[in-house]
Amino acid sequence: MTSTLLPGNIVYGGDIASSEAQNYRSLGQFILDKYKSFGDQTTMIDAVTGTEYTAKFMYDSIVRLAQILQKLGVKQNDVIGLSSENSVSFAVAMFAGFAVGATVAPLNVTYSDREVDHAINLSKPKIIFASKITVDLVARVAKKNSFVKGIIALSGTSSNHPKVYGFTELMDSDKFKTKPDFQSPAANKKEDVSLIVCSSGTTGMPKGVQLTQYNLLATLDSQLQPTAVPLAEVTLLTVIPWFHAFGCLTLITTACLGTRLVYLPKFEENLFLSAIEKYRVMMAFMVPPLMVFLAKHPIVDKYDLSSLMVLLCGAAPLSRETEDQIKERIGVPFIRQGYGLSESTLSVLVQNDEFCKPGSVGVLKVGIYAKVVDPDTGKLLGANQRGELCFKGDGIMKGYIGDTKSTQTAIKDGWLHTGDIGYFDDDLEFFIVDRIKELIKYKGFQVPPAEVEALLLTHDKIKDAAVIGKPDEEAGELPMAFVVKQTNVQLTEQDVIQFVNERASPAKRLRGGVIFVEEIPKNPSGKILRRVLRDMLKKPKSKL
Ligand code: AMP
Repeated sequence: MTSTLLPGNIVYGGDIASSEAQNYRSLGQFILDKYKSFGDQTTMIDAVTGTEYTAKFMYDSIVRLAQILQKLGVKQNDVIGLSSENSVSFAVAMFAGFAVGATVAPLNVTYSDREVDHAINLSKPKIIFASKITVDLVARVAKKNSFVKGIIALSGTSSNHPKVYGFTELMDSDKFKTKPDFQSPAANKKEDVSLIVCSSGTTGMPKGVQLTQYNLLATLDSQLQPTAVPLAEVTLLTVIPWFHAFGCLTLITTACLGTRLVYLPKFEENLFLSAIEKYRVMMAFMVPPLMVFLAKHPIVDKYDLSSLMVLLCGAAPLSRETEDQIKERIGVPFIRQGYGLSESTLSVLVQNDEFCKPGSVGVLKVGIYAKVVDPDTGKLLGANQRGELCFKGDGIMKGYIGDTKSTQTAIKDGWLHTGDIGYFDDDLEFFIVDRIKELIKYKGFQVPPAEVEALLLTHDKIKDAAVIGKPDEEAGELPMAFVVKQTNVQLTEQDVIQFVNERASPAKRLRGGVIFVEEIPKNPSGKILRRVLRDMLKKPKSKL
């Protein structure tokens, strides 16, 4: 399907051919029926333990847990919290939540007490599933919030809350008599919220993004299109955390498509590479830091990665240079970028075989409309003109929970304002320049940090880099870089400044200087936490 340019500079991705998912009476039922249809097919592999899980195992476990949840008092539209690293029980808990018509609210496993408290006070879960690593913290915070009636410990237990159930004990208990099949209740699909995901929080405290059952079902329909990236019956590796929108939505999509999903609970260099080798992985979900790892880390050469055919990358800007380095180094034939937001359910732009110019994020997905707005005048811009990207379509969220003001700022007349600056070219292929808020203003010139970071990453001796604007009375802001050196190399501040001077226009020069650091702070989906870097600048005595 090719995009069309409608009058008034609106781009449309074309109609969705399938309405299979949207016609279902609920998301939970759709997922259950999909698992049932895949029978004994292996759908999940835990790359740490090597355990394989069939679709039948998933179906039986979801059906059993859904009935247990009902017996514990969980009703349609109640909220269930889920704080766990990637594991089969994460998937079972989430899908059982959907099956009973509940709203699932995944929680970032790296959250502190304060952040968990903030997140659960947005979504107000009745029950929270927590893994071994989070259960103590979650139970401690939940005890102070009386809306939480119980905790289900996915493994291990905790004494921090009076009502902690063990997952295995519940599943094995004779106390709960359950049937081998389950009918999910009919939903009010455009109103009932299936997921509350926390927005990235790169600029402030996270907001709770509400995605309805319809948002997910319509997105699944667009993934079922024959022209979408073919995820069915392939072996696909993921390490993207499922508590983040990108990870969560790709888990749901692959479950419905019958993909053989090899998953890791967290990134570990050798395990990641050996999983590709051992399971002859064909595709992998990636974020830019993982791409940089594949492009630059010496350990990569020790593994046979020849099975890799497609890398699907999203969540943050990926540079053309990194893409080229990977293609050259491991010969992956296809690197496909996608762009989306938690607020748009999944990607709204994706590259395909026809539209995959280096550095682009591809073309509109079916069912999606886009426009590019001049942030100063509000005028709709045409091809090759940079402005704020706005999207409309069935995947656009219902709104931020309990925050009408932010919802009204984000969605105007059905259009989601992304805060990202980009443009489409003459072929209606899209390019992301940067976030509006992150653009550095040097003497009125716009400097996209992502572009300078991409340039720095082409340096052999630089392992990672982040660029921010250092406040300056005269110029407004001066571009400055935080740089992580490769191990055992000599590299001075002057070398880095010189490197940029020789390759970038004057506004982009690192006039604010260079600070060498051990690591660039990033959130779990690989976005640079620029506010942490800015805070570092404010505290010059802190350990950088
Ligand atoms: P999140 O809601 O955490 O998924 O973050 C959404 C934001 O991630 C977008 O508004 C973009 O700023 C950024 N993003 C996602 N995908 C890409 C991409 N392919 N290239 C550049 N930025 C991206």
